[in-house]
Amino acid sequence: MVPIRSPRPLPTICSSPCAQTEELFVASLDKMTQQTVFIPESDAAEVECQLVIIGGGPAGLTAGIYAARSGLKSVVVEKGVLGGQVALTPVVENYPGMKQVGGKTLVDIMVTHALEYVDIFPGEEVVDIIPGQPHIVQTSRRKFKTQAVLLATGATHRNLGVPGEAKFAGRGVSYCATCDGPLFRDKRVFMVGGGNSAATEALYLHNMGVNVTLVHRRDRLKAQDVLIHQLLDNGIPIRYNTEVKEIIGENRVTQVVLLDNTTGTTTTEAADGVFLAIGYDPAVDLARKVGLALTEEGYIKHEEFRTNIPGIYVAGDVTGGSKQIVTAAGYGSEAALAVFEDIINPYWKKA
Ligand SMILES: Cc1cc2nc3c(=O)[nH]c(=O)nc-3n(C[C@H](O)[C@H](O)[C@H](O)COP(=O)(O)OP(=O)(O)OC[C@H]3O[C@@H](n4cnc5c(N)ncnc54)[C@H](O)[C@@H]3O)c2cc1C
Repeated sequence: MVPIRSPRPLPTICSSPCAQTEELFVASLDKMTQQTVFIPESDAAEVECQLVIIGGGPAGLTAGIYAARSGLKSVVVEKGVLGGQVALTPVVENYPGMKQVGGKTLVDIMVTHALEYVDIFPGEEVVDIIPGQPHIVQTSRRKFKTQAVLLATGATHRNLGVPGEAKFAGRGVSYCATCDGPLFRDKRVFMVGGGNSAATEALYLHNMGVNVTLVHRRDRLKAQDVLIHQLLDNGIPIRYNTEVKEIIGENRVTQVVLLDNTTGTTTTEAADGVFLAIGYDPAVDLARKVGLALTEEGYIKHEEFRTNIPGIYVAGDVTGGSKQIVTAAGYGSEAALAVFEDIINPYWKKA
């Protein structure tokens, strides 16, 4: 059994073996250049700790910082790219303290910060959790024995799968009105979807001065009546029985091809943007395997970040909610505090 090492070595940034200089930090923000954070590899076959955090997105990294600062020996295990969805975000404009920052730069800042406190195991997938005392967390490389487990596995937005969608993602195609809406003020956009998210996001865009039309493939919306009334009261056009078939442009979106699925006719219309709100797939394979309860929408059910299995916690987009970096980070901090409270005073042992 290999204990988590302490005190922590400083992470290596770029080619320098020392911590990031202030100049480098400021330059990276100005130029939004990417940095590479070096994370030392571990060949331990078994690791003992108090908290295993699954997922190295903003929720997991924040939970790592909070848990380790409260004195818990904590690790973050990430199967793919550290930073989660933030690593795929060209520019972030709504994270407090960063007026405009490249997603990858923000990830490097978060990872560098987290590494000051918590061990990170990148490129390692958690394949099983065996609840018990301790819980066993089996990854593709090793076994962790831990008092608590926190799932921060995220959620992926669904794609429409039409020509032009991938090409113009981040250049007119957006999955997040809250993130990108202000870039489209006074511009013409189509919002695709028929549920509460699409209706709410269309209202959000309209409210900030975007010329938005809602497009839905069926003859009625699934959104709540109150939202439908608000769409109508605000004069937001709704195109029923209409499907986006192609997104066209050069550097950015300029047109969309719309199909009227009752008549079979297509039209090509001018557009500056296409917003997609057609649902999310929360990453719950592991949760299902362990027997965690899910909500009707498929997210992990929790009460103040505690799941139905004592000692297993959850944070971030995999819990549902508004799916923002700042909220995922907030959930991560709260979940870590819940873990700390329970480790010092387990609720499942209280009379
Ligand atoms: C293109 C795009 C642009 C966005 N723009 C913005 C924006 O401008 N502002 C904003 O606030 N939000 C934005 N978001 C949303 C924001 O990025 C997410 O809300 C946030 O990243 C969620 O954080 P999370 O930690 O909950 O999950 P994620 O970021 O999804 O991270 C979850 C991590 O868990 C890992 N994981 C899953 N299963 C396992 C496993 N079994 N073992 C190990 N690791 C696992 C995944 O690989 C992933 O890295 C954007 C999202 C996208 C896709």
